[in-house]
Amino acid sequence: MNPLLSRFFAYYAPYRGLFLLDFGCAVLSGLLELGFPIAVQAFIDRLLPGGQWGTIVLAGAALIAVYVLNTGLMAVVTYWGHMLGINIETEMRRKAFAHLQTLPFSYFDNVKTGQLVGRLTKDLEEIGEVAHHGPEDLFIAVMTLLGAFALMFTVHPGLAVLTAVIVPVVLWVTTRYGNRMTANWRRLYDSVGNFNVRIEENVGGIRVVQAFANEAHERELFARDNARYRSTKLEAYRIMAASTSLSYLSMRLTQMIVMVAGAYFVLRGGLSAGGFVGFLLLVNVFFRPIEKINSVIETYPKGVAGFRRYLDFLDTAPDIRDRPGARVAPALRGDIRFQDVSFGYGVGREVLSHVSLDIRPGETVAFVGPSGAGKTTLCSLLPRFYEVTGGRVTVDGQDIRDLTLASLRGQIGTVQQDVFLFGGTLRENIAYGRLGAGDAEILEAARRARLGEVIELLPQGLDTLIGERGVKLSGGQKQRLAIARMFLKNPPILILDEATSALDTATERAIQASLTELARGRTTLVIAHRLATIQNADRIVVVDESGIAEQGTHAELLARGGRYHQLHEAQARA
Ligand code: ADP
Ligand code: MG
Repeated sequence: MNPLLSRFFAYYAPYRGLFLLDFGCAVLSGLLELGFPIAVQAFIDRLLPGGQWGTIVLAGAALIAVYVLNTGLMAVVTYWGHMLGINIETEMRRKAFAHLQTLPFSYFDNVKTGQLVGRLTKDLEEIGEVAHHGPEDLFIAVMTLLGAFALMFTVHPGLAVLTAVIVPVVLWVTTRYGNRMTANWRRLYDSVGNFNVRIEENVGGIRVVQAFANEAHERELFARDNARYRSTKLEAYRIMAASTSLSYLSMRLTQMIVMVAGAYFVLRGGLSAGGFVGFLLLVNVFFRPIEKINSVIETYPKGVAGFRRYLDFLDTAPDIRDRPGARVAPALRGDIRFQDVSFGYGVGREVLSHVSLDIRPGETVAFVGPSGAGKTTLCSLLPRFYEVTGGRVTVDGQDIRDLTLASLRGQIGTVQQDVFLFGGTLRENIAYGRLGAGDAEILEAARRARLGEVIELLPQGLDTLIGERGVKLSGGQKQRLAIARMFLKNPPILILDEATSALDTATERAIQASLTELARGRTTLVIAHRLATIQNADRIVVVDESGIAEQGTHAELLARGGRYHQLHEAQARA
């Protein structure tokens, strides 16, 4: 089977019961529709001439009963069929979100949020729709086409052959638009993605937009996307208009031709009145699947385009993941070794080349050096946010690639310059350090991060909403919140990446006290911009473009008169 199809049908497996119910009812309903023209034929040819009212009323009642049954079947198909669709959609969305979370930083370096949002919402909705209607519509269309033709043949072979000659023309007219529609829907989805990206970036960056008074520029960019979306959609409607009206015309033409030809056969005596009416009704039944094909032409390409994009996404392999046989890390002491480590982002030049460095358990090591030298990069290799391309990193003697990601990252805490906060309450944001922490622990962590007084002054305390990404907090408060998270998480290894660089010196000094307390008893890697903040580190490592330039204590490095000495002088003068 086509791999796309087989992957699609795999999603039906858990819902076999629902599928059979939906499918069975739909097929039964299709059969009842097929039987109706034959019933009418019998009614006209056999019951009418007899003129017995009792039988006629009885037959009418029987047909009503059949229609009531069919109504019930259609209700089942509408409700449980859609349930099947939404179940599959939900499962796909769950899978996509779970996959999203396994993807490494490098994936997100190159992706647009709005596109991803589109995939998880609109795309999957369309797939769900096809998952419900697709197989059922297709099967019933084929069944009705063949069934109706067989019945026509029994009524009048000559007329049936005539119809069979005309219908392929109708089919050709309606299906030739299918491929063009698929291509068009793909383009349409991409433009919806572009929309999402624009709106996302504008809402997130509205402060920048307004600060630069660049609203008109943004409107123009948006107008361009908007226009592209409009023209793609118009193209879709143009195709749709052509295909629906042409197929309408060809259907009606067929019916009229069949009617005139049928009249000829009636007059010549080869066709009864009932057969004539029955045949015309059969032609209608015959066309229903073709109409259905029209609606399938509308929904199916959307679903296929969406499903392809969904698979593309799902097939993006997370290249940083647990190795087969990866061990859960025991409680780490924090003996960290970078052994001949090389790394580069993508194909470009290497950012780190043959770097070696040993860090003892409990040691505080500071990294200083020019911006862009690779300090952040070096530290992000330790939690495996990026993977070394050469050499290895070990913790307590174990290659970090032999440990499970969760157990490794669970024991490393990172505080960065820009803290990402979620738009909930203070409580939720602090508790992100250890989900499920109680209020007493949260308040204790807040107190140690010197966030206690802030919380006490707030009328709603821990329940205070901090705004999207924490916009209602000051820079210093955000950092304190990040530190409170770390007190809760309590990891043996800590990375402080310019945690206070964005703050004024007074705030920095105040937060420094919390950081010193946080670092106590942990192996700590500090990246610092202002040298004054790391003078007491056990060791200072100077990183520059060539790698590790020199290392030692503050006093040793000053005495050496090298790179550190230069940096120190430069900052003292400033
Ligand atoms: P530092 O922290 O010392 O200022 P970084 O480690 O952030 O330096 O950056 C080192 C180099 O790697 C820089 O040239 C930077 O442009 C590049 N770089 C950093 N992050 C990425 C990324 N996510 N993708 C590609 N290049 C990056
Ligand atoms: Mg950095």
